[in-house]
Amino acid sequence: MIWNEEFETLPREALESLQLKRLKATVDRVYATVPFYKKKFDEAGLKPSHIKSLKDMRLLPFTVKTDLRDNYPFGLFSVPMESVVRVHASSGTTGKPIVVGYTRRDIDTWAELMARTLTAAGIHKGDIVHNSYGYGLFTGGLGAHYGAERIGASVIPISGGNTKRQIMIMKDFGPTAITCTPSYALHLADVARDMGIDPAKDFKIRVGCFGAEPWSEKMREQIEKIFNIDAVDIFGLTEVIGPGVSSECIEAKRGLHVFEDHFIPEIIDPETGEPLPYGEKGELVFTSITKEAFPVIRYRTRDISCLNPELCICGRTFVRMERITGRTDDMLIIRGVNVFPSQIESALMQIEGLEPHYQLIVDRKNNLDTIEVQVEVNERIFSDEVKQLEVIEKRVVHDIKEMFGVSCKCTLVEPKTIQRSEGKAKRVIDKRQL
Ligand code: ADP
Ligand code: ZN
Repeated sequence: MIWNEEFETLPREALESLQLKRLKATVDRVYATVPFYKKKFDEAGLKPSHIKSLKDMRLLPFTVKTDLRDNYPFGLFSVPMESVVRVHASSGTTGKPIVVGYTRRDIDTWAELMARTLTAAGIHKGDIVHNSYGYGLFTGGLGAHYGAERIGASVIPISGGNTKRQIMIMKDFGPTAITCTPSYALHLADVARDMGIDPAKDFKIRVGCFGAEPWSEKMREQIEKIFNIDAVDIFGLTEVIGPGVSSECIEAKRGLHVFEDHFIPEIIDPETGEPLPYGEKGELVFTSITKEAFPVIRYRTRDISCLNPELCICGRTFVRMERITGRTDDMLIIRGVNVFPSQIESALMQIEGLEPHYQLIVDRKNNLDTIEVQVEVNERIFSDEVKQLEVIEKRVVHDIKEMFGVSCKCTLVEPKTIQRSEGKAKRVIDKRQL
């Protein structure tokens, strides 16, 4: 099923002329209203009128996450605050989040895109959608919520956490669709089984839209089998709009159609910044072409993928991006939260007695991400009483919880026990098997 036949099946030529028209309008808009973009364009000797074809995209400067941080909180907004009806945020590379805004029309666009996403997964009016994506500053919860309402489904806005209660509701309310992270789906299944409930028989769920973190074909098979459902991959990021940037169709389940009438995707070589042809793997870059409050020009996602222009059996003409296979930076996603090792490092360095030698051990137990922080203490603290060590451990756990909302374990270790590296320090040991 296709939510918006008119746009989702546009012939390539018509789509490209629409993209060019919208791109030009966006470039004009950011040049006129966002000093950051004007300065960048001027430095590159670029005028909006230089963008005459889609190929000219490559003349546009890239935008990166630190640009968002440097303009915290509202510096990249392209409309006055009184036109902004919503803000969301996601973690940045330092303690400060990156902040995005939406006009009423942006919220409307977003609902449309999530309506397309859910429809592509086979969800429709009459379905009951159990939405376990987090509500709040995260985009996931409200994104899926508005999409589900737009198609006329009944939403259960349960958000994340309180797993036993979620399972009771899944059994009693009989949702036919679920939206959550893939790891949380597996955790829900584990807890359900512990409660004597068989997710394949005792739930009515038919389909799930899973995303917000990396997963694999193997995990898809597991989820489909355990719940006896179809599992589709959905993708998005706060900076671009939130979920609703691309999504798989249930017909093919092979790659995520990018909503190209709203976002222009590119794949670039992360070293040189050169655009790469279809089929080659590289860093995903998006330019928004319809957003009002927070347009982004050639935003570097750091996510690794490739684009496939082959026509799909579902009838959509949009290119498909391959499921994300990695990142070009060290960002970790722990229970759906973006965590940068550098943020943890700066938290640790605030604490008296800790040395700048640490390692993060990430794992998945009972389908829940775990993180252990191992950090060296100095000689003095180490030879001090055990009580002192306990105080520091508690402080680390507390500070990291404050920063990300994620619980970690902290192990203080003797000075000089964490392996030193001759090149780039290996800060993260990720044992999760996707
Ligand atoms: P959201 O709240 O929508 O997850 P964030 O901005 O917090 O948005 O995180 C976006 C990042 O999450 C992406 O850049 C990507 O690394 C990861 N991500 C989102 N969806 C997927 C997916 N389906 N597969 C793999 N990674 C994903
Ligand atoms: Zn398709």
